[in-house]
Amino acid sequence: MANPLTPDVMADPVALTRALVDIESVSLQEKEIADCVEEVLRAAPHLSVWRHGNTVMARTDLGRSQRVVLAGHLDTVPINDNFPATIQGDLIYGCGTSDMKAGVAFALHLAVSVPEPRFDVTYFFYEAEEVDSQYNGLNLIAGAHPEWLAADFAVLLEPTYGVVEAGCQGTMRAVVRATGRRAHSARSWRGVNAIHAAGEVLRRLEAYEPRTVPIDGCTYREGLNAVRIRGGVAGNVVPDLCEVEVNYRFAPDRSEAEAHAHVREVFAGFEVEVVDSSSGALPGLTAPPAREFLAAVGEAPVAKLGWTDVARFAALGIPALNFGPGDPNLAHAPDEHVEIGKIRDGAATLHRWLS
Ligand SMILES: [Zn+2]
Repeated sequence: MANPLTPDVMADPVALTRALVDIESVSLQEKEIADCVEEVLRAAPHLSVWRHGNTVMARTDLGRSQRVVLAGHLDTVPINDNFPATIQGDLIYGCGTSDMKAGVAFALHLAVSVPEPRFDVTYFFYEAEEVDSQYNGLNLIAGAHPEWLAADFAVLLEPTYGVVEAGCQGTMRAVVRATGRRAHSARSWRGVNAIHAAGEVLRRLEAYEPRTVPIDGCTYREGLNAVRIRGGVAGNVVPDLCEVEVNYRFAPDRSEAEAHAHVREVFAGFEVEVVDSSSGALPGLTAPPAREFLAAVGEAPVAKLGWTDVARFAALGIPALNFGPGDPNLAHAPDEHVEIGKIRDGAATLHRWLS
């Protein structure tokens, strides 16, 4: 099949967005789109190109004093009656328009059309962001070729509706256990009811006052919530165990270990088992390329409240932020779309910054 990413398409970020949407690339089925992307990058003489699985990396080597990363994932969530792309007025509809082929189009367009950027640039077009992290292209690169990730600053082109979303919050889940002693409910005084004991866990959650943490002008709002509750043995048994699963979203001024300690402190007197956690990422807006990026965008940054792959860069000591044209509220939705005007504005911003 002929590569749909023709020179005309590559020259226009809007046409490129549409062409990328029309190459089906549900997670773990990115070979075709990665082949197309690799081919157009290899045709650009100013780039050196490597591939690992279905992740393609291209970079300039101009000897600049700073190196920046532009990264976008090639995969989408499963198609939901929204393929191929359609255009209605100023909107492109289709699976992956917002999350995040419009962002991928920025990076791909810049990669071939800015041969002498002000910073050296490493472009990543990576696989499997929407599924378990064992498949995540950036995660695989961090294991196999960590030197590919070296940079002074990274921009992840996830949907942010054209504003800078800096850093990201950390997340952890823990199971809080209330225990008791089983008994027949006809002689309940012989037992201790663990579901009743869990009332104290719920009261602490209800009374909990989450922190609001300003960092580099961004406001991170924390949250501690029960997300699941389990307990009960049978209709005539006083239960001996009740488990409340809580999710703590924490500002990036706290490390994972500090977040764990905080949750244990909140539920002092109960058994607390941490089942899952990921560290946040500080906004890192003081690095010189980041300051120039903010100047090019010309709008104040806001805090990223979800967890994104910026944390992978932060873990390597590389400041990173999110910037993309799509509306994050539309990601993964059947009516997912992106505004053509936002694509043009964002592409112009990145051009100003890089050239
Ligand atoms: Zn995404």
